Amino acid sequence: MLLYCEDCGLPHISKTGTARKCLVCWKEVRGYDLNKADLAHRGLAEVFHGVLEENKRLKAGVGAGGQEKLKALEAQVVTLTAQLNALRNENDTLRKGGNIPQDTLRSIISLCHPDRHSNSPLATKITQWLVAQLRR
Ligand SMILES: [Zn+2]
Repeated sequence: MLLYCEDCGLPHISKTGTARKCLVCWKEVRGYDLNKADLAHRGLAEVFHGVLEENKRLKAGVGAGGQEKLKALEAQVVTLTAQLNALRNENDTLRKGGNIPQDTLRSIISLCHPDRHSNSPLATKITQWLVAQLRR
């Protein structure tokens, strides 16, 4: 469901229709550091907001050639929605995997590997967890 954030006023999508703040404002209020995906998400939300406002004006019959422009803007809305969803997925991935770069994660796995620790059960457990954090 498309909602407008109570803090920044930008549109955001809430699966349950109950999220009053966008993800970026939600993170800001809780003191989280904003990553590049968050900032890109906000930038796209601003563009999306502009497109939605332009769409409203066109639907109200303002401007000549409004129908063609309306179709172009509707196509843009579809594209921007897909980009927003992709960014949301990227955010989910970053949240799950933390901020450890993949190369560093592979090095950590190499250092923790059970072969280096006499097949210790703890080394096995930690290595399995680290492997699960690698992006597929
Ligand atoms: Zn917001």
